[in-house]
Amino acid sequence: MIPMVDLKAQYADLRSEIEQGFREVLDSAQFILGPNVQALEEEVARYLGTPHAVACNSGTDALHLALAALGIGPGDEVITTPFTFIATAEAIHYVGATPVFVDIDDATFNLDLEQVEAAITERTRAVLPVHLFGQPVDMPELMRLADRHGVLVVEDCAQSFGAAVGGRMTGAFGAAGAFSFFPSKNLGAYGDAGLVATSDPKVAEELRVLRNHGSRERYHHHVIGYNSRLDEVQAMILRAKMRRIDQYNACRRRVAHAYRDRLSGVPGITVPHEDGVGRHVYHQYTVLASDRDAIAAALRSADIGCAVYYPVPLHKQPVFRDTHGHVQLPISEKIARHCLSLPIYPELADQQILRVTETIRHAVNG
Ligand SMILES: *Cc1c(COP(=O)(O)O)cnc(C)c1O
Repeated sequence: MIPMVDLKAQYADLRSEIEQGFREVLDSAQFILGPNVQALEEEVARYLGTPHAVACNSGTDALHLALAALGIGPGDEVITTPFTFIATAEAIHYVGATPVFVDIDDATFNLDLEQVEAAITERTRAVLPVHLFGQPVDMPELMRLADRHGVLVVEDCAQSFGAAVGGRMTGAFGAAGAFSFFPSKNLGAYGDAGLVATSDPKVAEELRVLRNHGSRERYHHHVIGYNSRLDEVQAMILRAKMRRIDQYNACRRRVAHAYRDRLSGVPGITVPHEDGVGRHVYHQYTVLASDRDAIAAALRSADIGCAVYYPVPLHKQPVFRDTHGHVQLPISEKIARHCLSLPIYPELADQQILRVTETIRHAVNG
């Protein structure tokens, strides 16, 4: 059995360090927003090269709080991709703004920047790019475009911790970068967790207020906030993994390149685009397959995990049918019909990679 993701191998390696950390948190009896959270924020900020990082309860909250802290709200349009997880668009709704979906590039699966520019209106307040599957958006180009039109950029970095363009980390380009530490993400907690990175001290301060019931000073509340505090146990676990994140991402890239070497040239299979400009961190390894369902069936009968991320683009989701159902985004719709994600995690062994690629070759050749 080769699963899509296997978190047990990583834990085996970290066990003694995490058990020790767990005892220390229990002994300290400080469970929420304590020294581990503060240290995590400092360590992540340093790693990303952003002056500020504010931890919160999930990636969804990170997106929501980032939009709220930037003052995005009712009447505002936020341009985003339909080829993403629902949370990207939910966050836009939470602040009362309107998502505007534009189509993606068929090589990178990320927002098509020409279409982003064409979709800007006088109501556009922000662009919300997603660095999908760990592939960084061309951020220098998007920032030039956004600056030209006076709109903000909020990056959805849920899948891109450690991805970079020109040596600069995703999350460090826009007005804010929102990260998820959901267990299966490249940097994953053992529960829900998230974080917002920003270079703006006022935005950072607003985020700290919003995540803790709108209070600067305890029991004095100036705005309606939220309970989106991170706990010490998750922060301790994330700090242990932070020390190894470059190694984890390097291993993911090794797996991806082994897949690429064995799947390039297989008829009907298109391997992920990697141009060397951006550093792709392969949260997912997603191929396009002309006969996707046959390959998925062959993998499953060989006891190999695979998944379709994402089968339905957001503008075709039932929840958005009334508001966006008329929109046609042919590239997203085509990619959704052909995309297939293969098992990937840092510990995936060469033998297992070989078994996956041989099963695919066999399915293609009948
Ligand atoms: C995982 C994910 C989120 C949400 O993160 P949670 O921590 O699960 O709330 C948002 N956007 C994208 C693209 C994601 O993959």
